[in-house]
Amino acid sequence: MKSFETLGLAPGLVQSVQLLGFETPTPIQEKAIPVLLKGTRDFVGLAQTGTGKTAAFGLPLLELIDDKSKNTQALVLAPTRELGMQITSDLETFTEKYKPFNIVAVYGGASISEQIRKVKRGAQIIVATPGRLIDLIDRKAINLSTVKYVVLDEADEMLNMGFKEDIDKILSFTPEEKNTWLFSATMPREVRAIMKNYMTDPFELTVGEQHVGNVNIEHFYVMVQERDKYLALKRILDFTPDIFGLIFCRTRIDTQRVAEMLMKDGYNADSLHGDLTQQQRDRVMMKFRQKALQILVATDVAARGIDVEDITHVIHLNMPDEMEFYTHRSGRTARAGKKGISIAMVSKHDLMKVRQIEKSMKSTVKRMMVPTGAEVCQKQLLALMHKVREVKVNEGEIAEFLPAVYEELNDLTKQDLIKRFASIEFNRFLDYYRNAPDLNGDQKRSDGRADGHRDQSERSSGGTRFFINLGKMDGLDKSKMLELIDEYTGLEKKDVGLIDLMGAYSFFEVDKNLADKVIKGFVGAELQGRQVRVEVTEGRSSGSSSAAGRSSEAPRPRKRIFSNKKFSDNKGDRFHRKRR
Ligand code: AMP
Repeated sequence: MKSFETLGLAPGLVQSVQLLGFETPTPIQEKAIPVLLKGTRDFVGLAQTGTGKTAAFGLPLLELIDDKSKNTQALVLAPTRELGMQITSDLETFTEKYKPFNIVAVYGGASISEQIRKVKRGAQIIVATPGRLIDLIDRKAINLSTVKYVVLDEADEMLNMGFKEDIDKILSFTPEEKNTWLFSATMPREVRAIMKNYMTDPFELTVGEQHVGNVNIEHFYVMVQERDKYLALKRILDFTPDIFGLIFCRTRIDTQRVAEMLMKDGYNADSLHGDLTQQQRDRVMMKFRQKALQILVATDVAARGIDVEDITHVIHLNMPDEMEFYTHRSGRTARAGKKGISIAMVSKHDLMKVRQIEKSMKSTVKRMMVPTGAEVCQKQLLALMHKVREVKVNEGEIAEFLPAVYEELNDLTKQDLIKRFASIEFNRFLDYYRNAPDLNGDQKRSDGRADGHRDQSERSSGGTRFFINLGKMDGLDKSKMLELIDEYTGLEKKDVGLIDLMGAYSFFEVDKNLADKVIKGFVGAELQGRQVRVEVTEGRSSGSSSAAGRSSEAPRPRKRIFSNKKFSDNKGDRFHRKRR
């Protein structure tokens, strides 16, 4: 067995690793260090985290870098801030008994000006996540023209997170003449493409078993008709009270709309898409990171690189056109060794895509049935009971109120009490889900009706229904809305059917034949400097009355119940529906 001395490392580096308790090199260190120390070849290491790959590239890097020059000579790219920080700290430890180096970590979520200051002081090695590095490049705060060594660590993960374009851009700022060292746990087509485009005759090394992908993600699909997707999504959410999830839509408009519908229906949701300002995006992401937000609806582009721990579910409301995006999306769950679930909501004609995923992942995507109404009720009831069991009783403060409570309930048996107590919350679910149809796409409606019993909030009255991004918060009431419609489209009161005013947005209906007038009329419309957005909506999302005259206060679905301690701790009720 080789020792660190025999690998050709400088004595200071050997002493540093000995201080760390590294006695013998790991297989990747034994094979990679002598090759990399030469500093003459590109390198590909197929190795997972835990194999000692950081020292395998870190030790040769420190040996090859000129400590007398302040130029940036090495760039290490890592997919996440955590890995970036880990690499930086490892590199610093390796220099303990060696020469001092200026190693700077550059990653998102921390002060950029502080990082710029550190880089400007002369960073010989920069360890960066791609997104933040691009920011620095765009601000011309970094000079990569003197880089001699580029390390792409966990390359497959960087590509999974959607950093392909960022990597291309970053590499275009580095000189042609450099060595590129790539480490990856898997070797998908995209990693091969990087090798082909950026590396010359690399030395290839495989250590340990090849990984096929994140085995901690369980992949499911539900088959559901296009028109039932939103309802099915709500079923899944209701069936998973502790979800901390990311929902993907294909377009910004869908993303915004689904998030708005979910919010209106009482879910703790928000959206992330390209129409938001950076500040708005940061705010949403902060809420999500802090788990003050339970469901984030996002576009592929906006969610690129999201690295939030503990995401339990990724739901694909539409399947992406490119398989690669499916991997990016699913990879947002099951981070840091945790388990995660990916659910693709597909219509019959999307089944092909499911088969393609299976083929490319070499594993099965199992079918999940959309839960029935009864199953949701059962699940919610148990979640409520779990919450009752877990609730922290504030003995001191509640004591003085209890005698009156006992007095009020003293003639009820234990069973009666439980029944009544459970019913307070449960009745809403029961009302909502009573006679709920089977939403599985290939099932016949059990009640024989073409449409089954639909959620009140999903009915339409036959006209064309429009979404408009203005609501009560903009000072609109029904007559003002009619004026607005008249002003932009020339349509009169008699042409406009139902108007549903919400907080930040509204819905209105007009006869199908007049729909074109609405679309054309609102093009370029602005209200107090704000762009007015009007779109035909399929969602039929409001608890609306229809031409048949149903009450616009159709039964609200229910309260959200979160049994998970993490989500219902003393930070308050932030996961509960806002609308009570
Ligand atoms: P890595 O794959 O670089 O993330 O390393 C995984 C873990 O193994 C880290 O905690 C390292 O400190 C440790 N390690 C790396 N090389 C050795 C070695 N030669 N002997 C003992 N531990 C090591």
